[in-house]
Amino acid sequence: MTSTTSGPRTYRAAQVGTAGGPFGIVERELAEPQPGHVRVAVEACGVCRSDSGFVNAGFPDVPFPLVTGHEIAGRIDVVGDGVEDWNAGDRVAIGWFGGNCGTCGPCRAGDFIHCTRMQVPGWAYPGGYAEYTTVPASALARIPDELSAVEAAPMGCAGVTTFNSLRHSAARPGDLVAVLGIGGLGHLGVQFANKLGFETVAVARGADKAGTAERLGAHHYIDSSAGDVAAELQALGGAKVVLATAASSEAMTAAIDGLGNGGELIVLGATPEPIQVSPFQLIANSRTVHGHPSGTASEVEETMRFAALTGVRALTETRPLEDVAAAYDRMMSGQARYRMVLTTGR
Ligand SMILES: [Zn+2]
Ligand SMILES: [Zn+2]
Repeated sequence: MTSTTSGPRTYRAAQVGTAGGPFGIVERELAEPQPGHVRVAVEACGVCRSDSGFVNAGFPDVPFPLVTGHEIAGRIDVVGDGVEDWNAGDRVAIGWFGGNCGTCGPCRAGDFIHCTRMQVPGWAYPGGYAEYTTVPASALARIPDELSAVEAAPMGCAGVTTFNSLRHSAARPGDLVAVLGIGGLGHLGVQFANKLGFETVAVARGADKAGTAERLGAHHYIDSSAGDVAAELQALGGAKVVLATAASSEAMTAAIDGLGNGGELIVLGATPEPIQVSPFQLIANSRTVHGHPSGTASEVEETMRFAALTGVRALTETRPLEDVAAAYDRMMSGQARYRMVLTTGR
């Protein structure tokens, strides 16, 4: 049911005027949600490396001026006509999966993540770098009470991507699972791998990350700058899964021979550089190399419930919305420990 509010008429948003341009804080008109949509009062929004793809127009048809952001947590403010089961005040998260059409071939088959018209917040419509965002009801995930908004926000992209790819993999409890990279995705991947019952190996550059890896739940640490990652994984028995969160095709290539029989290299880190692999490396050991998208709204909700149950949490650095440029630069520099999250002060 649409309600006419007597609240604010405008809201602040962090906007990029042209491709590659700087962020600026602007006032935008607050509109009532269309049928099938809800307006969300944003409390927190994670800063994802994919956001740079939108800021720099690396994806097709990025609209400028742009308000990006697809790791959103907040409360429903106004519910549009025709929306069932959601009410004003509900705590919700919206991730990379920003709504599906319900009528295309994949949607008819129940495969919503591959919807040909899937919407991503901050691309298909203004996203979470703002005090409000309006989203299709199909994008909503309910936040469990145990998670704060800052804790929930990164679960919509970094969290669901790592959790979903691990639980849909061939690995079973007790199997050796390696996580390549300890960044925004990887630091969650290590925690999820531990809590899913895998013998967990963290792989990163430098000896200084060993302590962090152990605190996150890694049973083993491999310093990729000091040795042969594949040989070290084979010495541990060979990995059932290498979860490649670092956007480095070179690091992925170097790990393939560390896979055991039926092992999977799961590609999450997005980079255009080709991964090098020969048929010889794949055939005899039945190895596979494949990608994995994020997850539906329902799967974001399952990710948050698993996190609430097991204590998995994103390690975050928060910045107020107006400091968006500094937060974005810190994410791009690789200095963030480990997820930058913008907050609106709610
Ligand atoms: Zn993302
Ligand atoms: Zn569809």
